[in-house]
This record gives sequence, structure tokens and C-alpha cells, in this order.
Amino acid sequence: LPVKAAASAKVQEILAKVSRRDPEQREFLQAVEEVLMCLEPVLAKKPEYASVIERMCEPERLIVFRVPWIDDAGNVQINRGFRVQFNSAIGPFKGGLRFHPSVNVSIIKFLGFEQCFKNALTTLPMGGGKGGSDFDPDGKSDNEVMRFCQSFMLELARHIGPQTDVPAGDIGVGAREIGYLYGMYKRVQNEFTGTLTGKAIEWGGSNIRPEATGYGAVYFGLEILKEQNDTIKGKRCMVSGSGNVAQYAAKKLIELGAVVLTMSDSTGYVYEPNGFTEAQIDQIMEIKNKTRTTLAAYKSETGQYVAGERCWNAPCNADIALPCATQNEVEYEDAVKLVSKGVKLVLEGANMPTTNDGINFLHSKGCVLAPAKACNAGGVAVSGLEMAQNATMTTWSPEDVDDRLKSIMVDIHAAASAAAKEYGVPLQAGANIAGFEKIARAMIAQGCV
Ligand code: GLU
Repeated sequence: LPVKAAASAKVQEILAKVSRRDPEQREFLQAVEEVLMCLEPVLAKKPEYASVIERMCEPERLIVFRVPWIDDAGNVQINRGFRVQFNSAIGPFKGGLRFHPSVNVSIIKFLGFEQCFKNALTTLPMGGGKGGSDFDPDGKSDNEVMRFCQSFMLELARHIGPQTDVPAGDIGVGAREIGYLYGMYKRVQNEFTGTLTGKAIEWGGSNIRPEATGYGAVYFGLEILKEQNDTIKGKRCMVSGSGNVAQYAAKKLIELGAVVLTMSDSTGYVYEPNGFTEAQIDQIMEIKNKTRTTLAAYKSETGQYVAGERCWNAPCNADIALPCATQNEVEYEDAVKLVSKGVKLVLEGANMPTTNDGINFLHSKGCVLAPAKACNAGGVAVSGLEMAQNATMTTWSPEDVDDRLKSIMVDIHAAASAAAKEYGVPLQAGANIAGFEKIARAMIAQGCV
């Protein structure tokens, strides 16, 4: 783990302890380092917090289980399932499930660790958790996905509940998977309290939940621009990804008069020199959500598909980058490219999309980085609103949920920005500090548990 010279002896000691325990968990150690490096000024001012930092880096519980299922050819397939219950100091564990071949303990722990701070920032009482499997829904039939989800939930059900741990979606887990998972959960537990968020509106879901992460990231960006006496209108935006987050971020940007130049997937990217129209985003949604193929199928008179490259290579200038695909998609070299294109603001829609040297480079060039834990917190925030609606047997209107989402994003920005000003650090560090201090206070108040 590359500990920077600037790290205080205390932070170095904690980082060394955490990495000694799990030296091979690269993504998890990266996420820990990113947070701990921001806590230097907090520790200098409030040394009593040192004792809780190390505890925060160790999950309360990590569950690993076998997921056997039968494929369409009648063969038994085995995948590995995970749930990390990271921190319940401020509320029940809450966080998504990711189904992707890259999923392992390190990925789940980095996501769970980040989720704690993110959920703390939402202003709602939710602890942090995450789960998933190395199962790849790509190329599987609906029946195979259903059998996998049922087997996964048969085991997971005993560990979750409306007051203990509430999963949701993430990469590879959308409306279809949540339906299959929830169906099995109800059968096993014989209750309809709404454990699992991201449900369809007709059976306990919340309006605006599908849109929430992407919309929220744009709302967060509006707050940053407002602080700079600027607006989103006419801003040239490079969006990566084409899943749930990217789709609704792009839609909101277009609605507000910004120009969306790129979208991407694991096979390549699409570049629209004049900006995507809403109908073109709908075409991408059709490809990704319905036919479930790749962006190579995208048809346009005005734009082009480029195979095998990240969208940061698109031949354009831009003002804002929105990495909405996956972790570490903005590496140092990509950050250099973005700055050379004129990008001054990075809104992280994905979890940990920027590497730590990427973050440092962007900051050194005066870029503002809106960190995922603040910027993409709209998704889990509306999940929290879904839990509130379930608990009170009500459904709020789309306008009502959207208004609440907006005000939560304004509050998250205000908290991150206030901490950044208090400690004289960038917004990214302010978000980490604000999330950390809330959990730290709760952990200290609850004693050594
Ligand atoms: N997977 C999303 C995230 O990274 C949403 C989690 C949730 O709604 O619980 O925050």
C-alpha cells in the first residue's frame, strides 16, 4: 500500500495494520487509504477519534456462502455469494447487491466501506453494507437468472430483515433481479415488510428510485456550479457507462440544457459530437435494458461507436466528466486526458471510479471532484425513502420523492462543503470528514461494541 509521505504517524500506523490483515485486498485498501488520508486534519484537532478509525475499517460481519443453481442444460453451476455487514452504528445495514464476475471479498468490502460514509451523508438513519456474487447475468436466460437469484436468496434471507439489513441493486442487479430475489425472500420469511429496495412501484417500490442515482448526481453538480456562480446550461459533459446511473444522469443533463457527448459500456463507447438527443438515450436504454446487447448495436446518423476504448479518448473538449460505469475507470492517464480537454468538474456516479493518483492529479490542476459517497448518494437516499414508505404503508408521488431527493442532495453538499471549509480541504475530503464524524460520534456514544 503506497502510504504517502504526508501521512501522519497515526494514519500510517492504522493503514499498516489494516493492510497487514488483508494485504491482497487491493480495492478495499485503496478505499481505506482514500478516506484515511482525508482524516489527518480531523485527528490533529480531535485525537479521541483515532480509536474508532481502526474499528471502522473492520466489518462487523462478513458472510460468504455457496450458491448452487441449475443452468438450462441441466448442469449444476456454483457461484460464491457475499454479504458484508460493515457498520450499524447509525442504523440497519443498507446497501446494494452486485452480480459481476469481478466480485470478490475485496470488491465487496470496498463497496461496503464506502457505503457506510455515503449512507451517513444521506441524513437518513442507515448503516452500511454490501453484497453480491461473481455470477454474471450477461448471456444468461431469464430462467437461469431466476434460479440463481432464488438460490442466492434462500441463503441470504436468514441474514437480512427490515430492521437488520436491507439490500438493493447495484451493477448486474436491476428490476428483474430484485423481483426474483424479493419473491423468494417473501416465500422464505412469510412477511411483506419490504426488505429489499428498488422494488417495482406496484409492489412496494418508490417512485423515482430508478432515476435517483443519476438525477442525484446531477443535482449535486448543480450545487457545486451554484457556489461558483455558474449553471449547467450548455455545459459539455462526457458520461461513461450506459447502465441505470448513466442513463438517468444523461436524461437529466439533457433536460437541463447540458450537452451529453459520450456514453460507454465494457465493449467501447459512443460519441455524439452534437450531443445525444433524448430519443438517442432511449435507444441506449432499449439496448441495455430490453435486448441486453452492447453499444455496438447503437445506430445513429450523427454519432459513432468506437470499440475497445474508454470514452475519455473521444475527440472532444468538455467541461464536466461523469464517470458512471465502475471502479477505477479514471486512472492517472485518464485524469490527464480529462484536464487537457478542459474538464474542471468530475461528478462521480459510479463507486470509486477515480484512482487515488487520479484524484491527486485532478486536485493539483484545480479540478473539483464530487466524490461518489456524496455525489451518487441519491440512489440509496431514495432507497431510504422507500423504506419509510413501506413502514407507513404509503406511496409518495414522483414530484414529492423528487423534491425530497433534491433537498437531500442540497443537504449532502452543504455538509461536505462546510467540513471542507472548516478544515481547509477539497470537497472530496470534506465529504469523507462529514460522513466519518457522524459515524464516529455514534460509535463513541455506543461504547466499545
Ligand atoms: N448500489 C447503490 C449504491 O451504491 C444503492 C444501494 C441501495 O439503494 O441500498 O449506493
